[in-house]
Amino acid sequence: MSTDSTLRFGAQTDEVTSFLRIVNLVRNGEATTRPEIGRATGLGRGVVAQRVDQAIRLGFLEDAEFGPSSGGRAPRTLRFRADQGRIVVCALGVLHIRVGIAALDGDILDQAHRRWEIARGPEETLDAAMALIDEVLARAGEDRPLWSVVVGLPGPVDFETGRPVAPPIMPGWDGFPVRERFEDRFDAPVWVDNDSNLLALSERARRRADHADLIFCKVGSGIGAGLLSQGRLHRGANGAAGDIGHVPVAGARVQCRCGKVGCLEAVAGGWALVRDAKQAIAEGTTTQLSAVLDQDGTLSPEDIARAAKDGDALAISLVQASGRVVGEAIAGLVNMFNPAVIVVGGALASASEVYLAEIRRRVYEVSHPLATRDLQILLSMNDQREPLRGGAELAREQLFEVTFPRWFAAGRPSREGVPVG
Ligand SMILES: [Zn+2]
Repeated sequence: MSTDSTLRFGAQTDEVTSFLRIVNLVRNGEATTRPEIGRATGLGRGVVAQRVDQAIRLGFLEDAEFGPSSGGRAPRTLRFRADQGRIVVCALGVLHIRVGIAALDGDILDQAHRRWEIARGPEETLDAAMALIDEVLARAGEDRPLWSVVVGLPGPVDFETGRPVAPPIMPGWDGFPVRERFEDRFDAPVWVDNDSNLLALSERARRRADHADLIFCKVGSGIGAGLLSQGRLHRGANGAAGDIGHVPVAGARVQCRCGKVGCLEAVAGGWALVRDAKQAIAEGTTTQLSAVLDQDGTLSPEDIARAAKDGDALAISLVQASGRVVGEAIAGLVNMFNPAVIVVGGALASASEVYLAEIRRRVYEVSHPLATRDLQILLSMNDQREPLRGGAELAREQLFEVTFPRWFAAGRPSREGVPVG
């Protein structure tokens, strides 16, 4: 670790501001040679050369190959050193733990997954998650320093404190110090966020859309949404923004697992569809899901999505009914939020076009015409790495855009140097 006394730690002088900007221009690929940096920043050649030298000395940038010549001597390109450190992402779902290691450019290098019920509580769950992280780090032979850990949770999170806030279906998790547990274990800055927010950030990274107005709606076992306004996550005053799974559906009387009655996910979430499918089977409905239930002893939202794709009548009707109700909830968000893009993902959405068609129909029926004039409604990639990519994107944003001035002079972030929250 090196320090650079010519740049004063923490002081947002012009010198520091231009230094951080230069590192980020190269990191984001917006400028890759010294002349390009000069044009982008308006700084003179001598100043650019000095700042770039400092960035190389601190380990953020390195010289790479020569770029194309524009007449004179070809300029040397610069490269961001994405291998200086690693980011660990731990995405906890209702029924899954997924962990991954990423480079500082967001590239996912390795990952692992295990089935796990988050209802087993925070102590047991975090132990299992950390064991899985250790396993992946060991398998990858990873000896580079961890620059950050990001944790995704399937419920509302207070981003400032890194604690879950009254998550409806996660007994024992309310207010649990998730950030501290990971900080103590991995000695790195830790950020905790809602899983739908990570998925929204993954879409932002994929689209390279800096100013996206986007809603990511996740329909898995539960239902949640992540809101991007001008490229920034809108988390709300208590981290509850986008937590649409437990808003009441008009006229619905069915019991939700949160204790209330008639919630959106009690009608249209994956677990509700599993409940309805089991009941239909018990009542003698013919469906390919009977065989799955016989064999596995249970059904998952994925099973229903797959059966709908295969043309199973019961599964299609369940999926369509869910799409209709979820579409209505999304229409409410559209009227209020006027996004340019809605991305639908999660285990149920993998039923693909059937689900999407139903959501589209309902959104266009219910939303204000002006709000849907240029609206795109798309299916997510539904790649299992999406939450990992989103977590890496969150770490990169926090490290290089939010907290960079606090730690850059040390060459790498530390738990002490990056007071989060
Ligand atoms: Zn509920």
